[in-house]
Formats: sequence, structure tokens, C-alpha cells
Amino acid sequence: MLCYSQDMSAQTLDGLKIRNEIFSELKGEIAKLSGQVIRPGLAAVLVGENPASQLYVKSKIAACEELGMASWMHTPPANVSTEYMLQLIKDLNDDDNVDGILVQLPLPAQIDSKRVLEAVDPLKDVDGFHPVSLGRLVSNRPGLVACTPAGCMEILRRYKIPIEGANTVVLGRSDIVGKPMALLLMHANATVTICHSKTREIADIVRRADIVVAAMGKAGYVQADWIKPGAAVIDVGTNKVTDVGEAERLLKSFPQRLEKFRAKGSVLIGDVHPDALFTAGSLSPVPGGVGPMTITMLMSNTVKAARLRRGKSSVQVAHPC
Ligand code: NAP
Repeated sequence: MLCYSQDMSAQTLDGLKIRNEIFSELKGEIAKLSGQVIRPGLAAVLVGENPASQLYVKSKIAACEELGMASWMHTPPANVSTEYMLQLIKDLNDDDNVDGILVQLPLPAQIDSKRVLEAVDPLKDVDGFHPVSLGRLVSNRPGLVACTPAGCMEILRRYKIPIEGANTVVLGRSDIVGKPMALLLMHANATVTICHSKTREIADIVRRADIVVAAMGKAGYVQADWIKPGAAVIDVGTNKVTDVGEAERLLKSFPQRLEKFRAKGSVLIGDVHPDALFTAGSLSPVPGGVGPMTITMLMSNTVKAARLRRGKSSVQVAHPC
């Protein structure tokens, strides 16, 4: 059994701190745009009454308000058809005040999600999920990049984690996190290995990484002794743990968190075992690491879309990715 020195904790890669930095930069950009009579605006589409989705969309609208951006919320009932959604997206595409369109996922089963997402004008695709946005990313051309991986890159850059030439391992290959993340790292000149559920000897692969990005959706899966001492760890996983035995196993080195779990009955755990705090050089915590960056990059993408759509390249881009 390994013993970890609790005096040697990793540097915290604080997503809230970076969110605040980016928000203050965005306020400057929005002020410049308002001098040109442009007010960036985000239209959110929330179908049905899923409480988690309602919460996410409310936070996105609140972020727009905090930044002084326009926002609209469309809330069709859960039983709407694909045709209804396509017409709504067309109306938003045609509305010149709308710079960004956000369709909150998941959509109810009767709606063809792919058709709906592909109907969004790529110039307003602030989630970066449209095939045109993905194509631009593959060929390293400017465009709108999926918010979570773009947020991970901001964390790495702003904490000055060396990326060029680094051995990086991305755990997970989803269209919204793993794949775009791997492309962004590759374009930043990292050497990238992508792992997935069929990868063999995953621990040995992770052990060679200078940077690990974990996006699997498996609480505490990446063990502390898989992390090369000093490596940077970006933990995208957001897993709600409610099982007492699992919480005790994951949080045995964190009695205060365990106490909070006992009081609340649940705790959010990343894909990386919390003990990695004692082996990594730097680590994004869950919660408070990647989480706040996703909405931040949505705001950044909306401002970027407002600028690009109107050909205002003169306003400086704070966030190139
Ligand atoms: P996803 O679509 O379910 O994809 C999971 C990926 O992990 C798949 O590629 C899967 O491999 C891989 N995987 C699963 N088990 C594995 C294992 N044992 N070893 C190696 N790879 C394994 O998930 P996602 O949407 O990318 O999200 C991943 C995590 O990030 C989730 O916890 C999610 O909640 C979180 N997330 C957080 C934010 C945020 O804002 N903080 C945003 C998005 C996602 P296969 O392809 O082989 O099935």
C-alpha cells in the first residue's frame, strides 16, 4: 500500500478564479462592442421540465445578465415535435439580435436531436456541436469550440502548464469533451494519447502523462498512483456519489468532506481519485475546477459569435480557442 505525504498537496487549478478573470475581460469586450451599438445575445431553448436542465439554463441566463448581455429563454413543452423545434431554430437563426443559440440537452426522445443541432446556423453555434464547428476544429481554423474542452485549455494556459511537447493523455472520446479536447491539445503541439473503454493497460499509459484530462464519468476511477509525480490533472468528471461505502473509500484522506457527505447524503466526485491531490503537481478540483469554466466559455463564445458574425475583427480576442 502506498503512503502519501499530505504536506505535499498539488497546486489547485481554480476554475472560479479563472472564471472571474475571463468575466472581467469579457466585460471589457462587451463595453467595446456596445460602443459599436452591438449587444451580444444568447437564446436558450429548454424543452420540458427536467429540473437539472432548468438549473443549468437558469445559471446560463444569470451569467448573461451579470455580463450585461441580452438573453432569451424559450421553453416549449416536453411533447413538442422535431418540426416545431426546427421552426424555432429557424426563427432564431433569422433573428439578427440573437448571436448564440443554445439547445439544452438532453431533448425528449421523440425529438431528433441531431437534426435540431444541425439546423443551428454554424455562426450562432455557441455550444460548438455543429459538424461545421467540429470540421473547423479538426482543420485548426478559427471557429466556435465546445465549451468544456475550451475551458480545460484556458485552465492549462492561464496556469502556464507547458503544453508544447508534453505527453498528454485524454481519458474519454465523447464528441463533446474527449475528441475536441484531444484536437485542442494536438493543435497546441502536445503529443496526445486518447483512451476509452477498450484501452488496455490504461494505468501504464496514464503514468507516462505530463498532463491528464479525465472525462469518463466514473467516480474516482483514475488512481492516485497512476499519476506521474508532478503531472497536471484536469478532472472533467462530475459524478454524484450517494453510496456510503463508496464515499468512505474515496474520501478516507478527507475527513471533512466525508463529514459533509454524511450530513448531505451525497458528494460530487471527479473521475480522478481525490488522493491524486498528493501525487499530482497541479489538479483541478471537483467541484470548482472545470465546472465553472463551461458556462464561462459559453459566454466567451457568444461574445466571439457577436463579433465574428458582424465582422468586428478589430475587437481583440481574449480567448483564441
Ligand atoms: P460520455 O459521453 O459518457 O463518454 C465517456 C467516455 O469515457 C467514453 O468515450 C467512454 O469510452 C470512456 N470510458 C468509460 N469508461 C471508461 C473506462 N473504464 N476506461 C476508459 N475510458 C472509459 O461522457 P462525457 O459527456 O464525455 O462526460 C464525461 C464526464 O465529464 C461525465 O462525468 C460528465 O458529467 C462530465 N462533464 C462535465 C462537464 C462540466 O462542465 N464539468 C461537462 C461535460 C461533461 P467508449 O467511447 O469506449 O464508450
